[in-house]
Amino acid sequence: MDILENSIIKECMSMNIILMGPPGAGKGTQATKLVNKYGLTQISTGDLFRKALSEQTKYGVIAKYFMQFGHLVPDDYTIEMVREYLKENTFENGFILDGFPRTIVQARELESIAKEFNFTIDAIINLDIPQEKLVSRLSGRRTCKNCGTTFHVEFNPPKVTGVCDKCGGELYQREDESVEAVTVRLDTYNKQTRPLIDYYTMKGTIININGDQPMEDVFKDIEKSLEGK
Ligand code: ADP
Ligand code: ADP
Ligand code: ZN
Repeated sequence: MDILENSIIKECMSMNIILMGPPGAGKGTQATKLVNKYGLTQISTGDLFRKALSEQTKYGVIAKYFMQFGHLVPDDYTIEMVREYLKENTFENGFILDGFPRTIVQARELESIAKEFNFTIDAIINLDIPQEKLVSRLSGRRTCKNCGTTFHVEFNPPKVTGVCDKCGGELYQREDESVEAVTVRLDTYNKQTRPLIDYYTMKGTIININGDQPMEDVFKDIEKSLEGK
């Protein structure tokens, strides 16, 4: 029955989601679960910038200087990159924007891109978590060099230390995960991204989820909120 129900949801579901929350809130972790269960495509601007950086493309060269110190990449480049990505790809079952928008300017631009490309944003999910929990989440995060899957040394350890469960790739600690960069990133979030919560709350479209609970419970709450859509 469970399998049948899941497959029905899977077949029927085509929705575009924005996943918001401070650095370390669990956006990437929950996005992966949504991808696996519903076949959505994850669009992580952080991952796109890191890929651009490793491939030394235009966006990577620009992003490097902002990312390494924990600042946001300027809006115009970020918007241009997302716009290109949305234009060049198709999303059969919908997509999850993970880490975009991060400013009010980006949110407004997304609205005009949606009109232009004729899609809707069906759910805006905000992972809510006390600030003091974020530093340990970020400092313990380990990311796969090969596939980008994230682990946590304490909360979600890989089966073999330093090795990705999914693809066997090497796990590393991100350059912007130093105490200094993390402090700047949290500050940047509070100044530039947190105001988006009010922006979407006023539009009446935000779903607040308690991100301060075990990963599976966060996911259950997200699923419940989406089933009502
Ligand atoms: P986290 O998972 O910790 O929230 P991300 O991987 O999403 O971090 O982002 C890493 C970095 O990439 C950010 O600190 C920022 O420099 C850049 N970045 C990602 N998304 C955006 C965005 N929407 N606007 C500007 N910069 C961004
Ligand atoms: P974000 O994409 O929002 O920056 P991540 O999904 O990368 O966040 O999660 C940050 C770190 O915290 C990762 O190491 C991840 O394994 C861990 N993590 C994610 N969700 C939880 C949770 N609910 N409880 C404990 N640790 C978590
Ligand atoms: Zn991997």
